[in-house]
Amino acid sequence: MSGGIARGAGSGTGTENMDTRIGFGFDSHEFKPGVPLRIGGMTIDHPEGLAGHSDGDVLLHAVTDALLGAVAAGDIGSFFPPGDPRWKDADSAIFLKLALEELQHAGYRIANVDTTLVLVAPKIAPIAGEMRARIADLLGVEIDQVSVKAKTPEGLNLDHVAQCHAVALVERTAEPDDLKSMSAVIESERQIEDVVDDLLSSVHGTQKKRPAPVYDTEDIT
Ligand SMILES: [Zn+2]
Repeated sequence: MSGGIARGAGSGTGTENMDTRIGFGFDSHEFKPGVPLRIGGMTIDHPEGLAGHSDGDVLLHAVTDALLGAVAAGDIGSFFPPGDPRWKDADSAIFLKLALEELQHAGYRIANVDTTLVLVAPKIAPIAGEMRARIADLLGVEIDQVSVKAKTPEGLNLDHVAQCHAVALVERTAEPDDLKSMSAVIESERQIEDVVDDLLSSVHGTQKKRPAPVYDTEDIT
């Protein structure tokens, strides 16, 4: 069955039989003086921030890619090209929200997210609890579904770079049969709309209404 509500992780990929899926994300940004340091949706008191077209939030970018990856919906760059002036200094929570919407449209929700930051400074351990709470809030999950770990880049010669690795386990929000029947309902409603449109256009001579796009891509690409 094509179309329906399973976007991104659509039919024909075998995903209809999967209850859980996993996604991985990685990101890195160079430290830069004179900009605020944003990690995990928090502003952290530090002499340098992370260079980037957006606010440079390396952790939120990695989690965004993990969520998109879990439902094979592309990556952060495919939705938010770095050259687009609209995303200059943007709050990376925007990117995370879009990934969440993609996840929900595909019929999944977050089971848990685990992250590892790799950076020399600042020390993350003292603020990891607050950061987990902030990320959980942004993701709409409980704090025990979010993990934030950090380590120093030993032997990598990357002392002026912050990196983040993230994995996300996601689980189905509805049984595959429920999704199929929901798709069938949507398809039949479309057909009824088409019939009504045809009737209206034959009576009023108006143009047939075009089907609405699933979402407005003009706002994000
Ligand atoms: Zn990034």
